[in-house]
Amino acid sequence: MKSFPMVILGGGVVAGYAAKEFVAQGGKGGGLAIVTAENALPYERPPLSKGFLAGKEKVSDIQISDAPFYREHGIAVFRNFPVGKVDFRRRCVRGTSGKVIDFGQLLIASGSTVRRLEVPGASRSNIFYLRQIRDSQGIRAHIKRGKRAVVIGSGFIGMEVASVLASHGVRTTMVFPEDRVWKRLFTPPVSAFFERQFAAHGITFMKGEAVVALTHRNRGCQVVLASGNEVPADFIVAGIGVTPATELFKRTALDTADGIKVNQFLETNVPGVWAAGDIASYPDQVFDRRRRVEHWDNAVEQARVAMRNMMGKLQPFIHVPYFFSDVFDLSYEMWGDADGHDQVVYRSQMKQKQFSVWWLKEHTLCAALLMNRPEEERAVAPRWILRRPRLDPEALQDSRNLMSLDATFGRQD
Ligand SMILES: Cc1cc2nc3c(=O)[nH]c(=O)nc-3n(C[C@H](O)[C@H](O)[C@H](O)COP(=O)(O)OP(=O)(O)OC[C@H]3O[C@@H](n4cnc5c(N)ncnc54)[C@H](O)[C@@H]3O)c2cc1C
Repeated sequence: MKSFPMVILGGGVVAGYAAKEFVAQGGKGGGLAIVTAENALPYERPPLSKGFLAGKEKVSDIQISDAPFYREHGIAVFRNFPVGKVDFRRRCVRGTSGKVIDFGQLLIASGSTVRRLEVPGASRSNIFYLRQIRDSQGIRAHIKRGKRAVVIGSGFIGMEVASVLASHGVRTTMVFPEDRVWKRLFTPPVSAFFERQFAAHGITFMKGEAVVALTHRNRGCQVVLASGNEVPADFIVAGIGVTPATELFKRTALDTADGIKVNQFLETNVPGVWAAGDIASYPDQVFDRRRRVEHWDNAVEQARVAMRNMMGKLQPFIHVPYFFSDVFDLSYEMWGDADGHDQVVYRSQMKQKQFSVWWLKEHTLCAALLMNRPEEERAVAPRWILRRPRLDPEALQDSRNLMSLDATFGRQD
């Protein structure tokens, strides 16, 4: 049996950045172990639907740190080690193989599990989901000019995958139940902007449609929709959301409700057991509500804070939610949470693929989406969301230089 002062359960984005922080904070060899179900060192997941899927990056390009980093700093990485049980009383994790590792403190970072299609015919091999390296490799192997693909879902995974497929000459149809792309997040003009870009690249939309069955013939299949429409496909990618990977923790001492509940220091209700990343439901002090964020930046920042806290340098996690996405040659970023907004301000021209969207609630900024905008907008967006200065919507829309607005009211505390 092996024993470590600190163990990280999960070998994804949190694990990779927590290990870096461990080293940056002077952690000593033998002090940390990572246990992961995957046969890979911790790696960046966003490229799986972007450059890695497009074949521009190799596994070694997306590793957060390389093998010598872990070796030189004495960090043990147990790969192919799916944990089947965590015993909080004995303070150990037990692999499904029966191997046991004791921990002093535990950081739970088991991330998310993809939602699967539950319709007749959905268990066949030409249906893909996207979470791990091998999923991305599986889709990549099907990318061939002239093939037909159906992408189910219009969130960021569906949009990114569709853009890579279409860029490689795959005839791509997006199927989703809403009446416009990423309705949950985008405003109608932003959805319309993306739909124009997608249509210009030959992507077809089947909106307001639910998949009810997949029928298979030879190597291809038909995606059968509730309306009675059928779409032929050589392969299918479903990006229909994820759920927190909490299966292991049901019926344990851990408080689990939509993820694992942590306090402002990212510690769970079991002392010395912490959680970070997709799985952590934390009290968001910026918006004064509990939330779980399924994005890269949240995983990185929580990994850093959790590791510092485990090493006794206690600090609360106070952070403006943020994410980025890339489709075709377009990159965009979003900060904050638009829930409950009462006004939307647009700056600049969508036609020029350079615009920003500012969601206001009672004259204060709650969210901002930026595409190809000057650095000053990137700087003020999270600051204004954090500090909540009162904003004049007209000045926000018309002002050439936001820094001038920032100087007048953005810096007030
Ligand atoms: C294809 C893709 C593209 C993305 N693109 C973007 C993007 O453009 N922008 C953005 O902001 N975010 C993006 N994200 C989201 C971002 O990658 C995640 O939020 C981030 O990976 C979460 O980190 P994590 O460490 O919590 O979980 P993960 O990185 O998912 O790591 C979880 C780890 O836990 C392991 N694990 C789970 N259960 C067990 C167990 N029982 N035993 C052992 N190990 C276990 C898993 O194998 C995995 O290694 C993307 C995600 C995906 C999948």
